[in-house]
Amino acid sequence: MKCPFCNEAETKVVDSREAEESEVIRRRRECISCNERFTTYERLEKPTLLVIKKDKTRESFDRDKLMKGMMRACEKRPIAAEKIEQTMDQIEKELRNTTTGEVSSQLIGQLVMHHLQKLDEIAYVRFASVYREFRDAQQFMKELQAVIQKKPLEKAPKLTVHIE
Ligand SMILES: [Zn+2]
Repeated sequence: MKCPFCNEAETKVVDSREAEESEVIRRRRECISCNERFTTYERLEKPTLLVIKKDKTRESFDRDKLMKGMMRACEKRPIAAEKIEQTMDQIEKELRNTTTGEVSSQLIGQLVMHHLQKLDEIAYVRFASVYREFRDAQQFMKELQAVIQKKPLEKAPKLTVHIE
């Protein structure tokens, strides 16, 4: 860390302490050349989007993981890879527009289903069956019937942004 007074490249840390519940480390430094003291702060660079999982733990949003799930649902369906990519872009954009920088995994699932339903019904049912972890065939059939009858199943989940 360069000295702000004389530009000397070498400075030594004379004190280091954590502040603000350990999210910031404050260091007092002393220039080995002019002996002036100054302070530096070390902060954790937070990922811009966190996913709140079922058990309330957080992990950073993983686009590749979600993309794999969507690709699996769209397998052997007449959907261009480009279209899936575009849908993924739209989903990610909507997620990143949330003001808190945190979204629940539940909301992500709902958002994907909302978009897949417009894209391809079979892909939608496939994704929904994995996501909802249907406990029995009856529940699955009920869902399938609703799709066939074109009942609006997935309303756009409430985000802070307007969805179509
Ligand atoms: Zn100096």
